[in-house]
Amino acid sequence: MLVSSIFRKLLSTRKILVLFLVALLLVVLLTTLGYRLVSPAKHPLKLGLPIACQLNRDCFILLYTDRDPGPAAVDFGCGRMTYDGHKGTDFAIPTLQAMAQGVPVQAVAAGKVLRIRDGVRDRLIENPAQKSEVQGTECGNGVVIDHGDGWETQYCHLHQHSVKVKPNDEVSKGTILGLVGASGLASFPHVHLTVRYQGKVVDPFVGPTAEQGCNVARQPLWEKPLSYIPTGVIRAGFAEKPPQLGELWAGAFDEDQLSADIPALIFWVHLYGVLEGDEEHIELINPKGQVIINQRRPLSTSNRVWMSYAGKRNRSQNLTRGKWQGKYQLIRGGKTLIDIQKQVLLP
Ligand SMILES: [Zn+2]
Repeated sequence: MLVSSIFRKLLSTRKILVLFLVALLLVVLLTTLGYRLVSPAKHPLKLGLPIACQLNRDCFILLYTDRDPGPAAVDFGCGRMTYDGHKGTDFAIPTLQAMAQGVPVQAVAAGKVLRIRDGVRDRLIENPAQKSEVQGTECGNGVVIDHGDGWETQYCHLHQHSVKVKPNDEVSKGTILGLVGASGLASFPHVHLTVRYQGKVVDPFVGPTAEQGCNVARQPLWEKPLSYIPTGVIRAGFAEKPPQLGELWAGAFDEDQLSADIPALIFWVHLYGVLEGDEEHIELINPKGQVIINQRRPLSTSNRVWMSYAGKRNRSQNLTRGKWQGKYQLIRGGKTLIDIQKQVLLP
């Protein structure tokens, strides 16, 4: 009797122990599951574009997030279209003229506005002195949005007095936040987008779980795939004098007709992402089809932004009237990467 009662008691203690272990297992499982539910791999932010334009026609990506943890810089495609410490993606427009016409900056996902800044003037930073003047306001006019679950996006360099939202505003994907500008530390007109997850910068081309460096496994955050185009054309045209880079960003030399008594006829191209060893082939052809200039030259340095030109002086003011043609090719490893043909009329 006594033995049997002790045995039964022992059995119930065992039952309690088993039940306890099962409960513990359930708690562990649910906690893990709960963690998984908010982890970035299960709940990634799906991003639209931060700019309302036709990508690779009216606008282009110029710089990517720096993926090198040290003093070097590398973009996710193992290219040079970034700089040390660059924490986002730069969506650029070709000129300040386009900026003045107004290109909207839009929310990449739904959320709530956390902070804004406006009132900083638009100016292209061209030297260290100007750079030091924007210290502390590098982002220029900006907006920060909280998307929940630890996700945040930040938009920088908006056009002065264009910010249309205020803190605590609820925004949808595509809500206009302001206009593309060149405020703060900007050397070309663009919107810079930083994505953060739990306070850490995320490169939207590879996602939050990617390792550092380039050519890593990618889980992009973009809802529609974005191509990696590290070399491209910003603009090309003709001028009556050798152009300056600042003039090209400003939108100068856009005419498709020039007077026949101009001091010189210059064909120019404005590009991004040229590499040391690339070969340029530039030609100027007169209205009779005669090749007046035919130059081939290798590039001795790599440049994120590049300008090239060739032309003919008009000393005796005897440029043939009619349609002149400019041709430009950028060749890398035997492949023609860029092929431009432009015409200008000398009536
Ligand atoms: Zn940037």
